[in-house]
Amino acid sequence: TVLVAGSANLDFVVRASHVPAPGETVLGHAFETMPGGKGANQAVASARAGGAVTRMLLALGDDTFAVPIEASLRDAGVELDIMRAHGQPTGVAFVCLSDTAENAITVAPGANSLLEPGHLPPLAGVTHVLLQLETPLASVEAWARAARAAGVAVVLNAAPARTLPASLLADVDILIVNENELATLTGVEDIATGMDRLDVACLVVTLGARGCCARMGKQRFLQAAFAVQPVDTTGAGDTFCGTLVAALSRGLAFGQALRRAGAASALACTRLGAQAGVPAHDEVERLLAA
Ligand code: ADP
Repeated sequence: TVLVAGSANLDFVVRASHVPAPGETVLGHAFETMPGGKGANQAVASARAGGAVTRMLLALGDDTFAVPIEASLRDAGVELDIMRAHGQPTGVAFVCLSDTAENAITVAPGANSLLEPGHLPPLAGVTHVLLQLETPLASVEAWARAARAAGVAVVLNAAPARTLPASLLADVDILIVNENELATLTGVEDIATGMDRLDVACLVVTLGARGCCARMGKQRFLQAAFAVQPVDTTGAGDTFCGTLVAALSRGLAFGQALRRAGAASALACTRLGAQAGVPAHDEVERLLAA
């Protein structure tokens, strides 16, 4: 079982010719609400990857914004541990997506900010805990510590970008970052130098259209991206994380799991929506076999 403990939001997405500058009003041309939040996106990706049971600890308000979030997770087959935050709004994100695929996003975490250390469900049967940084840092630290103490592998996607205490990194078995998050975390721009600075057993750096690189102990991995025509890269990183952890949970070798994560995240780039864009298991199989 993969246990994701993290954020769930409802994204309000307006598509427009360009992202507004401060003080500017832009007349958009399409509006949609879509379930999002890094935690929920990664849980959907893990569940769709198949082969591993996926559970998620999430917090929702008792408003109607919670309804499509819960439905999307259940449709994907995620088992839910919901902390209902009465009187707090469900997390929302206001996304402006330009026709040139640029975006500007404002998040109101709402219920997500009420997830506490004690909300972590029992870890019986859990092989991997998958965490991000859209919930309170003190909770992320406590969950990582509890999972480590229970012998559960701790996977941290250090997103959104920020610096982290060494004590948290000491409890992490696999750290996943993109280039920007690596630079923020280490204070160095150069990828190889940044990777050397981080004291974690296993480190994965995603490189967008260039794929990803990783090190595990003395082993080095380089995985080219699968060639696709990107439409919406929102959620590519989340699909990568969820797919990677699901593959590891069902016992795939690390290199194989990286390849599968690369294929799933490439397919996610070809579709709109962070969760709706997560490919099904058999689509990933087809790309891997191609
Ligand atoms: P994030 O979405 O967190 O910024 P990246 O941009 O590094 O993360 O993308 C995560 C992964 O998604 C990459 O490692 C790659 O496998 C895949 N990916 C992203 N952009 C593309 C693309 N244009 N073509 C193919 N795969 C992509």
